[in-house]
Amino acid sequence: MNGAFRLGTVAGIEIDVHYTWLFAFALITWTLAGSWFPTDYPDWNAPTYWLTGAIAALLLFVSILVHELAHSLVALARGMPVQSITLFIFGGVSNIGGETRSAGAEFQIAIVGPVSSLALSLLCFIALRSGVGGDDSPVEAILFYLVIANLLVGVFNLMPGFPLDGGRVLRSIIWTVTGSWSRATELASTVGIGFGWLLVAAGLLDAVMVSVVSGVWIAFIGWFLKDAALSVRRRARRVSLREAPVRAMMSSPGSAAGPEVFIATLVDDFMIPFGRRSVPIVEAGRVVGIVTIQDAQRVRRDLWEDTPASAVMTRSPLFAVAPDDSMTAAVELITRHRVNQILVLDDEVLVGMVTRADVTRFLQVRDTLARAG
Ligand SMILES: [Zn+2]
Repeated sequence: MNGAFRLGTVAGIEIDVHYTWLFAFALITWTLAGSWFPTDYPDWNAPTYWLTGAIAALLLFVSILVHELAHSLVALARGMPVQSITLFIFGGVSNIGGETRSAGAEFQIAIVGPVSSLALSLLCFIALRSGVGGDDSPVEAILFYLVIANLLVGVFNLMPGFPLDGGRVLRSIIWTVTGSWSRATELASTVGIGFGWLLVAAGLLDAVMVSVVSGVWIAFIGWFLKDAALSVRRRARRVSLREAPVRAMMSSPGSAAGPEVFIATLVDDFMIPFGRRSVPIVEAGRVVGIVTIQDAQRVRRDLWEDTPASAVMTRSPLFAVAPDDSMTAAVELITRHRVNQILVLDDEVLVGMVTRADVTRFLQVRDTLARAG
């Protein structure tokens, strides 16, 4: 993140503070010293309000740092690199390298954050109940604030809006159920976009009906969440090309020939005019073989006029995929069997071909997008 300054390093993780954090710090201190504490503790003097407010705001950010450290340390334990934690106006963000490799790891990394916040809330609550600081003291006021704030941070982060922790938990669950990372990301980020808009609407309503400051703040957070979920979805769609279906990249099968068609006709009428290297051979609506240029070349050229396709065609194995199979599966098939093309069969009906040219095109697009993402 640009505009951040380094605070220090914990367990090899850089702790950065973004300049927007200062606005949040000022706003929280001002809210606490200006209205919350004077209402609950009318007997304090002005410096006490401001000092207590500033300390409470600082401790809230320490709490958020604990929340982020929990994410980061679990990520590290699951073998994922963690570069840094950045505190900014909306809280904190852990910059964990790479995508989670398993739904289980994602679940653990996500859930530990809100659990830490709720645990901090509980700890402060226990301290409060055991009378630490004494009645009407600034310590009591700070503890009470931290009980509420950490409770809110924990609960808010459990909301299913991706990229909030709750959204990640939701994604890991869908991922487990469907087995598809891209489908889970698509669904969870769409829920996140909806949740962001919901917050914007709630904030505007709040601004009009109750409080302008809190309403605008909520709408602001909603807008930020919506944007974040949108960019997660956009990136996931690019990455999910790795799971692109054959349907999306296959070539048209071109016209097929019957087994009785002579090689000369196959080459002159089916291959050369269309730049094709192979012709599927179909009988009674079913693919019975394939004739490639190599197959044709096994026969002396002066015999092409008299040799039918059935004499040279490859009958088996006929490598085929279904239109909904992944392009990755098609690539594997082509590379493993060193063929130049495979058939795309939908219920035994020929609907397309995947050629080496299709594979090259697919891999080029995938690599370009991987670098962009
Ligand atoms: Zn979190």
